[in-house]
Amino acid sequence: MIRINDNYLKLKASYLFSDIAKRVSAFQQANPDRDIIRLGIGDVTRALPQACVEAFHKAVDEMASESTFRGYGPEQGYDFLREAIAANDFKARGADIHADEIFISDGAKCDTGNIQEIFAKDINIAIPDPVYPVYLDTNVMAGRTGAFKDGKYEGITYLNCTWDNGFNPELPQTPVDLIYLCFPNNPTGATITKAALKTWVDYAKDNKAIILYDAAYEAFITDDSLPRSIYEVEGARDVAIEFRSFSKTAGFTGTRCAFTVVPKSLMAYDADGGSHALHALWNRRHTTKFNGVSYPVQRATEAVYSEEGKIQVKQLVSDYLKNAALIRKEMSDLGYDLVGGDNSPYIWINGKTDSWEFFDTLLNKAGVVVTPGAGFGKCGEGYIRISSFNSYENVEKAMARIKAAL
Ligand SMILES: *Cc1c(COP(=O)(O)O)cnc(C)c1O
Repeated sequence: MIRINDNYLKLKASYLFSDIAKRVSAFQQANPDRDIIRLGIGDVTRALPQACVEAFHKAVDEMASESTFRGYGPEQGYDFLREAIAANDFKARGADIHADEIFISDGAKCDTGNIQEIFAKDINIAIPDPVYPVYLDTNVMAGRTGAFKDGKYEGITYLNCTWDNGFNPELPQTPVDLIYLCFPNNPTGATITKAALKTWVDYAKDNKAIILYDAAYEAFITDDSLPRSIYEVEGARDVAIEFRSFSKTAGFTGTRCAFTVVPKSLMAYDADGGSHALHALWNRRHTTKFNGVSYPVQRATEAVYSEEGKIQVKQLVSDYLKNAALIRKEMSDLGYDLVGGDNSPYIWINGKTDSWEFFDTLLNKAGVVVTPGAGFGKCGEGYIRISSFNSYENVEKAMARIKAAL
């Protein structure tokens, strides 16, 4: 009899975005003439930077001629892209990362989800709450948790992110082996200082642990004192894997390109205490299960680092941050406590009521869709996330409506 992986049965069905869609469509049906503004889902709205579009077209033309056609490329990505990343994202900021430590992929979602495969099943894992659900769900699927009870999975060390700790979790009380961190954070929009990140790097070193650092939103950092990469922190090369994505940076959510950095000096241990380079393990996984990002997409991504590309990406990000600043100002003026939106596209707002109740109020009274914080974990209860991924006109309109409604 064929059996399923019954760890899947432990997954708390992710009702979040389907619940939101249901409520929005019910509202639209009841109010067919009301126009709805969506500041909920974490997807970008603006077109690709022109430099990327031009490089994309050019590479497609190369594929159309036999003399320039390309078949399978290197699974880890083309050197032209890996070298551009190493030079611009790391060397230029004083982080010692080499092109051959960068693995190009089709998304940080896949990478943050797949990485757990190279670790033992019985390790102790620390995961923030609230959280981007991928880290948690992929460990549930792999059998590293018990049942879901009272809003938490048994067997996971939750790192609670609250107003009182500034949404920067404290170090775990009991030793852990694998730590997921995400800054600037989704959903809270919170950032971490270099000094605070150093305490995590030191913790990992002392406990022979590994940090999985999701920096998908680093492009939104405007405060130059904040680290964009964990490798700007001394010692991080020996304890951290970093995930990056062009999805939010350059509007690539539908184009798909990301990368993972696994430094060659990063070690983990076998059951007998022997040490092994994680770079070799991840390389084995990546080359066995992945066949590379398409050539035109890698050329389009390379253009992010061209002179024009840099200017256009900066403009894209600053347009979203202008929206975020408006959301911050209007919600603060209405008397709400909030974080994020200054170095992040997300604003995390204490709604002073149940998350879903506040969601319903904003939908029904203002026709504005946000995301209820409770959908990201137990500590998200009472909060909502407003996303700045929309046009300035729509954000202005949404804020005016919220002001009138509340
Ligand atoms: C959007 C996002 C990503 C990027 O995912 P892609 O698969 O590269 O589109 C990664 N991590 C977080 C926390 C995100 O919000």
